[in-house]
Amino acid sequence: MTLILKIDPINPEKELIIAAAKVIKEGGTVVFPTETVYGLGANGLDSEACKRIFEIKGRPRDNPLILHISGINSLYNLTVDTDRRLLDFAKKVWPGPITMLFKADPKVPRIVTAGLPTVAIRCPANKIALSLIEESGTPIAAPSANISTKPSTTRLKHILQDLDGKVDMIIDGGQTTFGVESTIIDMTTTPPRLLRPGALTVDEIEKHIGNIIVPKTINQKLIDNETAIAPGMKYKHYAPDKRLVLVSNKDLFAEAAVVAKERQEKIAILCSSQTAKELRESTDLQNITLIILGNGDNLYEIASNLFDAFRTLDDTKAKLGFIQGFDERGIGLTIMNRILKATGNSVAKDPDDIADAIIM
Ligand code: AMP
Ligand code: MG
Repeated sequence: MTLILKIDPINPEKELIIAAAKVIKEGGTVVFPTETVYGLGANGLDSEACKRIFEIKGRPRDNPLILHISGINSLYNLTVDTDRRLLDFAKKVWPGPITMLFKADPKVPRIVTAGLPTVAIRCPANKIALSLIEESGTPIAAPSANISTKPSTTRLKHILQDLDGKVDMIIDGGQTTFGVESTIIDMTTTPPRLLRPGALTVDEIEKHIGNIIVPKTINQKLIDNETAIAPGMKYKHYAPDKRLVLVSNKDLFAEAAVVAKERQEKIAILCSSQTAKELRESTDLQNITLIILGNGDNLYEIASNLFDAFRTLDDTKAKLGFIQGFDERGIGLTIMNRILKATGNSVAKDPDDIADAIIM
């Protein structure tokens, strides 16, 4: 049975946090909100509890977990790195949506690191998460609260779809802020290296800790299993059940509408509110469901609605979805990273590609 607790994200009720922490201390699993997406948490120092996370998600065992801590002091117990510089970095960016890789202390269970010499650690900027970790008195291992390969969850409805009956407790703390996962950087190299683009942009990270290495191919390597730089990035990820195809140019949406009508196929278009307005004014949308990603001038809004939109696509009658691309600057790099993973790198570049995708 899964217990659902509604907790106030601004003033978390102490007695409810104590109840949730009890589940963690007893080796159970608790879904809780962070500022990025919801996490599926268990005691990060208890191998058996962590094992349940892998079983519930259907997560491959070679994909390590992120440990969530409530303050910098806990870092000392989890890493053998003693370089003051690293701790100063951590102080500048935490609590926040950035995960850092350090050399793992031997007390970190093997199941958490997947046998790697490094451990991924994050201090989340969310009151419910921080008080739950603090009250539990242990780091909480928490990957995103979804079944493996599916989009991460940002609100209760989608958590229930994936995890109701499988976890011990779900904390409903409302919609998460960023809607995309944390940025991951490797602190064991100098300068640190970006492993996964995320909620904290490269510019913001560099403002705090100076230059970091951003592999030029960060959004291509994803697709290439051999060279994926964070183990998790080589797997199918963030994907709706329906086929999703990126269009290289939003003018191709009009073409898609024509083919869909001719072929009597229902399709969905995932786009900004501006693009939707243009389409409504110019195109016959008879067989089209428009799924609005948000204001195209505010990419943070697009990011926060992205996974929701992927799941909405599955709820429609559409055979497949076409999605607009965004500028890869700032948070746009993260948005495109998630879109490319979700589409399995399926891109329509011309009208023929559009027709092929619809007919397939
Ligand atoms: P999730 O929490 O589901 O967003 O996934 C966590 C991500 O962190 C995955 O892509 C992991 O591969 C990555 N990760 C966790 N620990 C490490 C590590 N020690 N080295 C490299 N990547 C890691
Ligand atoms: Mg995940």
